[in-house]
Amino acid sequence: MARYSGAVCKLCRQEREKLFLKGKRCMSDKCAINRRPFPPGEHGRRRVRNSEYRLQLREKQKIKRIYGLVEQQFRNCYQLSARQAGITGENLLRNLESRLDNVIYRSRFAASRSEARQLIRHGNFLVNGRKVNIPSYRLKSGDVFSLKENSREKERIVRAQEMSSAGEISSWLDVDSKSISGKVKKLPDRSEIDLSVREQLVVEFYSK
Ligand code: SF4
Repeated sequence: MARYSGAVCKLCRQEREKLFLKGKRCMSDKCAINRRPFPPGEHGRRRVRNSEYRLQLREKQKIKRIYGLVEQQFRNCYQLSARQAGITGENLLRNLESRLDNVIYRSRFAASRSEARQLIRHGNFLVNGRKVNIPSYRLKSGDVFSLKENSREKERIVRAQEMSSAGEISSWLDVDSKSISGKVKKLPDRSEIDLSVREQLVVEFYSK
């Protein structure tokens, strides 16, 4: 599966805000946004004109980068959301939130979504009692997720719970930190998704 392998702090600097891609480091003074809050590169500090297209593009890039998707994965997710009933922008965020890697991160079992992806790819998590090693696996209401018994990563996950940048555990998840398991109570409404983004701009971007 294609994925971005460059320096992730550059992605935050490009968006001029913290996207919380590196777990503990994001909460420390070492965060690149604290030290260099302007886009990388020779022309990073140059003033740019905020055209309508640019605002839409930047919002799309920002959401895509927060969830760690490449363009084709994000576009597929958007197209799925557009086919579903309801408001496309909200569907998009709900579909992104219901990914297994995001759920593991929101449950504070990984310090970042990229760490969650690695844990999942290595087969550490079960969904409804069956091993799932696909980070993009979409959970449904009522699904139960848990750490595989005898997982070698238990210590790492306990440490991650202290370092996670995910903030409060999302209200739509029922998480048991001790047994490293949880349940999706229901898929989230927009008000339950703690993300300050304007998803409508993404819809406008792809609707052209
Ligand atoms: Fe972004 Fe985290 Fe790097 Fe800061 S430390 S620039 S929030 S990835």
